[in-house]
Amino acid sequence: TEEHYQCIGCGATIQSQDPEQAGYLPASALAKGLEKGQFYCQRCFKLRHYNELQDLQIPDQVFLDKLSEIAHDDALIINVLDIFDVEGSLIHGLARFIGNQPFVVFGNKFDLLPKVTRQNRVKHWLKGILADNGLFPQDIILGSAHKGHTLTELLELIEANIHDRNIYIVGVTNVGKSTLINQLLAHYGGEGQIITTSNHPGTTLDMIHIPLTPDHAIIDTPGIIHRTQLAHYLSREAMRKLLPSKPFKPMTFQLNAGQTIFLAGVGRVDFQKGERTSFTYYVSKDCYLHRTKLDKADAFYAQHKGGLLSPPSEEEAAGFPDLVAKELTLSQDQDVAISGLGWFSVNRPVRVTVWVPKGVAVTVRDAII
Ligand code: GDP
Repeated sequence: TEEHYQCIGCGATIQSQDPEQAGYLPASALAKGLEKGQFYCQRCFKLRHYNELQDLQIPDQVFLDKLSEIAHDDALIINVLDIFDVEGSLIHGLARFIGNQPFVVFGNKFDLLPKVTRQNRVKHWLKGILADNGLFPQDIILGSAHKGHTLTELLELIEANIHDRNIYIVGVTNVGKSTLINQLLAHYGGEGQIITTSNHPGTTLDMIHIPLTPDHAIIDTPGIIHRTQLAHYLSREAMRKLLPSKPFKPMTFQLNAGQTIFLAGVGRVDFQKGERTSFTYYVSKDCYLHRTKLDKADAFYAQHKGGLLSPPSEEEAAGFPDLVAKELTLSQDQDVAISGLGWFSVNRPVRVTVWVPKGVAVTVRDAII
C-alpha cells in the first residue's frame, strides 16, 4: 500500500500527479524528502524560500467549506475583485460567511483605467452589483496589485485591523490575489523573515497564514476557478488577447443608426435608434473592432466568425455559442460594461442592441470617464 505523507507547511497530503492541486511535490523532490523524512509541498516551499505565493485551485464545495472557517474567527474579510470582470469575480455564497464581520472589497486592476476615470462612479457601480448579490461592503478600495504605491489605503486598513483581527483575503482565481499577497509579503516580509519564522503550525489545509503580529495574521484562502463565461469558450491565448493588460486607448466611431460594431467575434453592438452619435470603446488593443451595416451584420458574422472576427479562433468558432441580444436604452452620460471585455460610452441618448454569448454580463452604469 502507498504511504501517505503530509506537508509540514499546510498539512496537505503530498502527491506528485497534479501541480494545480494541493500538496503537489514533483517526484524528484519527493525522493529527497523521503531521505530527510519531512516534506514541504511545492507551494509551501516557494512561500518559505522565495516569499512567493502560488495559485491553487480547489473544487467549489471545498472552497466554501474553507470559507465557513471565517464565520468562527474574528475576521476582517477583504474580497479581491477584477474590475473588468466583476460578475465573473463574485464568490457566490460569500455573504453567508460574512455575517457581522467587517467586510471590504478591493477592486483590482485599476491601473488599466485611464487616469481621468472617476473613482466614485466606479465604486458606485461596483456597490450596485455587489448589493444585487447580497454583498454590502463597508468600503470599496480601488487599486492595483501590480503597483505597490497604489496600495496605501489597503495597507492602512490592514494595519488598523491587524491588532484585533485576522485578515482574510478571498477571491476567485485570476483577479490578482496572488499578486496582491506577494506585494503584502514583500511589504511586510522584507528579506523573507515573516515566512521563515513561521512554520505555519496548525495551519488548516490551503489557508496560508502570514503572521504580522504574534497573535494575528493575514490569511490567504485558496481560489476557485474564475467564472468569466467567456473563458469557458475560449483558449487562454484568446482570453489573453481580449483581457486588457495595458491601459486602454479609447477608440471612437461616429455612427448613424443602422450601423453595427463587432467586438472581434465575441460581441456586437447595433445602433438601433438615435441621432448621429460618437461611440467610444474601451477594450484591449488586441480586440479588433469592425464597423458594418446593421442589415448585413448577421450574414457578416456567419461568414467571418473565426476569421476576420477573431477570437474565437477558427478551431474555436464551431463550439462558440451564438450571441444573444439585449436591448438597451442609454442616456448620454452612461456606459455599457461587458464583463471580461471592457465598455463603451455614447455622447447622445440612443437605443442599442448588445450581443454577447449567453452568461456574459452586460451592465449599464453612469459614465466613469
Ligand atoms: P490570482 O489567480 O487571483 O491569484 O491572480 P494572479 O495574481 O495570478 O493574477 C492574474 C492575472 O492578472 C495575471 O496575469 C496578473 O499579471 C494580472 N494582474 C494582477 N494584478 C494586476 C493589476 O493590478 N493590474 C493589472 N493590469 N493586471 C494584474
